[in-house]
Amino acid sequence: MFILKKFIQYYKPYQFLFYTDMVCALTMSMIDLAFPQILNLLTKGLFTQSSAEILHGIGFVGGGLIVMYLIRYGCQYYITSWGHVMGARMESDMRQDLFDHLQRLPFSYYDKNNTGEMMSKLVSDLFDISELAHHGPENLFISILKIIGSFALLMLIHVKMTLILLCVTMIMVVFSVYQNRKLKAIFMDNRKKIANVNSRVQDSLSGIRVVKSFANEEIESEKFKSSNVEFLDSKETGYKIMGSFHAGNNFFEGLLYVTVLVFGGVFIANGTMQLTDLAVYALYIGIFINPLDVLINFTEQFQKGYAGFKRFVDVLQTEPEIVDKEDAISLTNVRGEIAFKDVSFYYDKTTEVLEKVTISIEAGKTVALVGPSGGGKTTLCSLLPRFYDVTEGSVTIDGKDVCDVTLKSLRSNIGIVQQDVYMFAGSVRDNISYGKPKAAEEEIIKAAKNANIHDFIMSLDYGYDTYVGERGVRLSGGQKQRLAIARVFLKNPKILILDEATSALDNESERHIQASLEQLSKDRTTIVIAHRLSTIRNADEIIVINDRGIQERGNHETLLLQDGLYAKYYNMQFEGLEELNK
Ligand code: ADP
Ligand code: MG
Repeated sequence: MFILKKFIQYYKPYQFLFYTDMVCALTMSMIDLAFPQILNLLTKGLFTQSSAEILHGIGFVGGGLIVMYLIRYGCQYYITSWGHVMGARMESDMRQDLFDHLQRLPFSYYDKNNTGEMMSKLVSDLFDISELAHHGPENLFISILKIIGSFALLMLIHVKMTLILLCVTMIMVVFSVYQNRKLKAIFMDNRKKIANVNSRVQDSLSGIRVVKSFANEEIESEKFKSSNVEFLDSKETGYKIMGSFHAGNNFFEGLLYVTVLVFGGVFIANGTMQLTDLAVYALYIGIFINPLDVLINFTEQFQKGYAGFKRFVDVLQTEPEIVDKEDAISLTNVRGEIAFKDVSFYYDKTTEVLEKVTISIEAGKTVALVGPSGGGKTTLCSLLPRFYDVTEGSVTIDGKDVCDVTLKSLRSNIGIVQQDVYMFAGSVRDNISYGKPKAAEEEIIKAAKNANIHDFIMSLDYGYDTYVGERGVRLSGGQKQRLAIARVFLKNPKILILDEATSALDNESERHIQASLEQLSKDRTTIVIAHRLSTIRNADEIIVINDRGIQERGNHETLLLQDGLYAKYYNMQFEGLEELNK
């Protein structure tokens, strides 16, 4: 019921198209129903009228029929062209809604679902839905009308004969319903399997560089083969069911004709039926069978569309857990004071990642988080822009709980530079201005200069218009990193998170970028996570976190004096450097 309601909702903007489509459908079926009746009158007339009257009558009927078929032509044209247009528009609306909804879903959704599957939902599922959307109602409408109409007219001609036909039809319907159940299940299975194929393609092609570096092309092919074969199997099963479905239906149709012939013969023999009636019967059977066929095809189309639409609605029904509160306020004039208070967090209930962490950072200061990988540093930072919500405790900026402010204003005040930066397929300019879509050229250039990347950009063939390749493959790690920094410069947030921003780089590029980062963190509250401890010596506070929580805190000097974990890490790295420099 809910699904149907949701479906009908998409017709709303196209009511006019929908109703005119229905009127055309109605007109068409009237015309089809009238034809045998006219023929009946005509043949009856042939036996009773004089030849002059017949000629006059035929001219009249012929002219009328031409007009009727012209009208039918117009209706069919409208249904085929504008009906499809309506379906396509609805499909486009649904696709937009799905995409918009996907944009709103939180990180946690993407932790569990894969993008290939989303692609499949956005493309093939919706296509089936649009087919159903425009063919569905008109097919259903025309067919039911025609069936009822022809049934009534048949009843007028010969009651017994019609009831016998009804029995055969009933058997046919029972058979169809049974086959349909099977079709429904197999179409749902088809959808899942094609989604698997899509996600394999997506996964493998996104990681094509890793695939090649491990020379794992064959393994990837094998993995793809298995999902491809599963899809094939599913389709084959589907076609087999479709085969028995259609063949079975045609068999029953044949049976209808045989019934008409046999019983017609009997009724004519015992004088309760005329030969002309039998001819009209044969014509009406066609009109009766054709909509039955359409209805049966419709159920197949319905099953496909339904499978797609259900998957579509499932996504739409996934509530974005992280949304603005109704009375959310805008976070403005941020000073940048941050406080984590007794923050506990887990991704899934079995493993607690953070337990009662309390950290406060004064506006404009820099705090460094250090500790073993997997300790929860990134997780802690992701609670600030509400990528995830705390399980317990609170995170505040300038004393305001991040849950009480609008997501847009919250996130516009936080800039993040991570280890693996993402570049969108587009130009250098597109990628920098992602930080501020309406930025002026001078602002973009200034940001690039601040990030020490302007000279490099100017050395490229097309300067700021140079295409960076998908995911920025045409750039080196350090170049991408500096573009990401330029992005944040342009965004100019009050709060900065540097999550191992330089860890992936060699010493030379790191030194370059370190300068840009220091420049960037001026006058901003900064949380910096770094593996190379040399880069965080100057932090106002250093906090050592491992999987048991906060272990030590203080500045570089006090922590060294304390001779605890930090001192141990530091000495280890320092010795390493000494070795290198020898
Ligand atoms: P760090 O940044 O200190 O290396 P993380 O915050 O990335 O550590 O990870 C902390 C723990 O949380 C790890 O045990 C990791 O496996 C787990 N974790 C991180 N991200 C997710 C996620 N999206 N879903 C489930 N568990 C996660
Ligand atoms: Mg991390």
